[in-house]
Amino acid sequence: MSITAKKIEIKGLVQGVGFRPFVYRLAVEHGLKGTVENNNRGVFIHVEGEPGQVEKFISSLPERIPQAASISTLHDFPAETEQFSDFSIKKSESLSDEITEVSPDIGVCKACLEDMKTQPHRINYPFINCTNCGPRFTIIKDLPYDRHQTTMAVFEMCDTCRKEYTDILDRRFHAQPIACNHCGPWYTLHENGKTDENLENILTRTAQLLESGKILAIKGLGGYHLACNPFAEKTVSELRLRKNREGKPFALMMKDLETAQEYLHISPEEEKLLTGWRKPIVLLKVKKPFAPSISIGLNTVGVMLPYMPFHYLLFERLKLPAVVLTSGNLSDEPIVIDNRTALEKLGGISEGVITYNRDIHNRTDDSVAFIANGKERVIRRSRSYAPSPVHLTFDAEGIFAAGAELVNCFCIGKGRQAIMSQHIGDLKNLETLEFYKESIRRHERLFRFQPTLAAMDMHPDYLSTNYVRQLDIPTVAIQHHHAHIASCMAENGVDTKVIGVSFDGTGYGTDGNIWGGEFMVCDFLDFERKAHFEYIPQPGGDAVTKHPWRMMTAYLVHYFGENVVAEYPELFKDTDPKELEIVLFMIKNKINAPLTSSAGRLFDAVSSLLGICRDTTYHAEAPMRLEAAATPDTEGSYPFEFTGDIISMKPAFEAMIDELTKGKRPGNIAARFHQAIVSVILETVTRISHETGIREVVLSGGTFQNRIILEQTEQRLVSEGFHVYSHSHIPSNDGGIALGQLAIAAKRREKRKM
Ligand code: ZN
Ligand code: ZN
Ligand code: FE
Repeated sequence: MSITAKKIEIKGLVQGVGFRPFVYRLAVEHGLKGTVENNNRGVFIHVEGEPGQVEKFISSLPERIPQAASISTLHDFPAETEQFSDFSIKKSESLSDEITEVSPDIGVCKACLEDMKTQPHRINYPFINCTNCGPRFTIIKDLPYDRHQTTMAVFEMCDTCRKEYTDILDRRFHAQPIACNHCGPWYTLHENGKTDENLENILTRTAQLLESGKILAIKGLGGYHLACNPFAEKTVSELRLRKNREGKPFALMMKDLETAQEYLHISPEEEKLLTGWRKPIVLLKVKKPFAPSISIGLNTVGVMLPYMPFHYLLFERLKLPAVVLTSGNLSDEPIVIDNRTALEKLGGISEGVITYNRDIHNRTDDSVAFIANGKERVIRRSRSYAPSPVHLTFDAEGIFAAGAELVNCFCIGKGRQAIMSQHIGDLKNLETLEFYKESIRRHERLFRFQPTLAAMDMHPDYLSTNYVRQLDIPTVAIQHHHAHIASCMAENGVDTKVIGVSFDGTGYGTDGNIWGGEFMVCDFLDFERKAHFEYIPQPGGDAVTKHPWRMMTAYLVHYFGENVVAEYPELFKDTDPKELEIVLFMIKNKINAPLTSSAGRLFDAVSSLLGICRDTTYHAEAPMRLEAAATPDTEGSYPFEFTGDIISMKPAFEAMIDELTKGKRPGNIAARFHQAIVSVILETVTRISHETGIREVVLSGGTFQNRIILEQTEQRLVSEGFHVYSHSHIPSNDGGIALGQLAIAAKRREKRKM
């Protein structure tokens, strides 16, 4: 019989996702011999055998890949036959290859859900997993990824599991967290000082408690959740009280896709994101309402589908179509991961705590994403995304990037890969700062990372900057908005001069003022500020973010003088006259009123002006509610003017006040304001492009989480012929900034060496 040989080169998301065992099984199935191996460029296969089988093997590769894998390119070439005696998996030779194999956690797969109903030793087993699914990053302590280096080490495999684990033809071959009802971890319900370890009892009782309006703490994959009935207003507002979380929206888990479709508008792209293996929280437009205090003042709600076997088992018994599943923590602390803390802290604010005895090693929150212009936009990158690397076009070995302060992630460089940490949070919280330091230590160990150069924000007081200062290695201070743009460039593999549009709430500028409405021409090495919003005093400094009316006052006084208060008393009718007096004093005398060009503060001012949000209870509430209030399909926009490179919104404010006094609806004004901002971007970018000839435009910063702004800006720039780059897997908010810091530091180092 004649045999033929082929070499196959596959690129894409093919590492750390059970790809090689999959290739092995497929090759054996087709009676083929040869090898499969990983290296930092992808997966390489050599197969030889009967020609028809080789072709069949190649064509079924893309059709049958594991759920977490995706192929971007597959090329096959004729090869010399080498007379292999079998098919085998070649072990990774270098550490940098191993590193790419630290997989993020993967939601339980379909085959496992079926096994859960049919395999005798895994009937209703709530920790069922296989090489295609289950915990990964959350349980790994060290490399190589082997069971004894994970939090599964304490569980000894039973004979049945061991047989599957060592059988290369089994779907659980080398599935490190393999377990079953006989040998694996189990759940415990703690209620009123008593414990119950019977799963059926736990599920029935959990369903009962949730249905009757009780609040429960349930251990998830990357941390604890607090759960309750999302239709019972009393319960939801009670949860807000107990958790000390006034207004920030709660996320829900829905029973399944059909149920979700009943309550929410879901586009095909949103469906794909919702049902994909990462199972993020997806921000969706509400169709049928939940309890009012689920997402106050917003028209969207964050929804995810079940991703742990326990979730599926619970919904089988639960009469509710959805549960609130919000992070198990008190206000701004990191989510609780260990059982003792859960019993201490969450036990006090819930009617029952459901634990299990497999430890979570690496804390991960649920990730959050939305769809804009058909593209996935991650705004909190954690579970099932971290620690997947970002591939760079340059070397970043040894660079540590500290990130920002408020929604911190840090980033480390390993060769041509950037590894972004999971979402850390607000470093001003002491426990979060501890989590930051601990995660840095763990990343150093896991990825064999030794920092030799550190990148940080220019802000002199950021706690992340403080951390870097005590490292005793060379540092580079990087301007905040330059880092935003560089982050988006790195994510998109752009390495040229671009026009950067960086809109956000706050960032330290090179002139000592607060920046945030910035147009720059930049590359990785440097930037030139080309245009920005006019400076406006920010009375009370950072405190204004809690009081948008202060920013409104600052804008109005700046444009129309102090008389504005007497002229439009209705704008100040809810304001405490004493507080107003203090604010006016600060503005007039330039006391504790730093100057800002922030887009976020401009949105704050308008949100207050329209009476939508005058005081806030969480970060970015005013702009989010302004966006939600904007009436779709509203015609028109507002004028603005340039004084040199300075953009003044005075004409827009005149128009908005005029419309308000004429009784025009706030929803229409909000929509026209959004359109005005889009026009500002379009016109400013066009001016800069005329001057410089640059056609590449990069959009970054927290303001681009605003779906209206992002979608319209992209569409209009593209229709004007610009090449537009925006974020997808890396947050456009400060959670993405570390990647930009890393890229800038790497390119500056490279240039120094040349
Ligand atoms: Zn599975
Ligand atoms: Zn077992
Ligand atoms: Fe920012």
